[in-house]
Amino acid sequence: MNILIMGAAGSGKGTMAHLIVQKYSIPHISTGNMFRAHMYGNTPLGLEARKYIDEGRLVPDDVTIRMIQERLLEPDCLKGYLLDGYPRTLVQAEAFEDIAAQIDRPVQAVINLKVQLDDLAERVTGRRVCEKCGSIFHIKAQPPKVSGVCDVCGGELVHRSDDTVQQLAVRLKEHVTMTQPVLDFYSKKGLVFDINASRPIDDVFHDIDKVLGQL
Ligand code: AMP
Repeated sequence: MNILIMGAAGSGKGTMAHLIVQKYSIPHISTGNMFRAHMYGNTPLGLEARKYIDEGRLVPDDVTIRMIQERLLEPDCLKGYLLDGYPRTLVQAEAFEDIAAQIDRPVQAVINLKVQLDDLAERVTGRRVCEKCGSIFHIKAQPPKVSGVCDVCGGELVHRSDDTVQQLAVRLKEHVTMTQPVLDFYSKKGLVFDINASRPIDDVFHDIDKVLGQL
């Protein structure tokens, strides 16, 4: 199964991606998680990415495309992939056509999570992410058993530096201008499935699962 999951910041991409890969046993490839791992590790790529991420802006295409190409060529992707947060620009989408062709795994579906704007600020400001394993919590909607500690691996839960109302505004603006052409690109190929994500987690996953079951 070769799928993409798209949606604005706070639309629940990470949560849904987690449920999808559990059920379908494909690697979850999140460019946001990859950048954050580099940032926490203070690698040269992390230091470069931080300049953009902390301002809510997109990391440049060449850096992002190189990182995703290296990841897709790893052996676990031969059985498929779920890409979360990539591609976010038309240039990235076009580059991905070649990358996917290299492993003979063209995109089969794009899950597009749609959320009402009012819900996004609440979701983003309350979100906490495990520094170690990437699990996602929410201080109100999905609190961990022990405050600040990941239920899954015991790692520390952090508030992402870009999960503020101010950065959300920048990210949403960038999402509309840069990412809409990506949706148009895949819509023309008949691959986009819109999902109403302003609903409880189980209902959203149910609808996604229905789409994936038909692939
Ligand atoms: P995310 O966890 O998907 O919300 O991504 C967090 C941040 O990482 C974004 O706001 C961007 O700054 C950066 N980022 C993630 N994926 C990409 C991408 N495909 N292209 C450029 N920047 C990205």
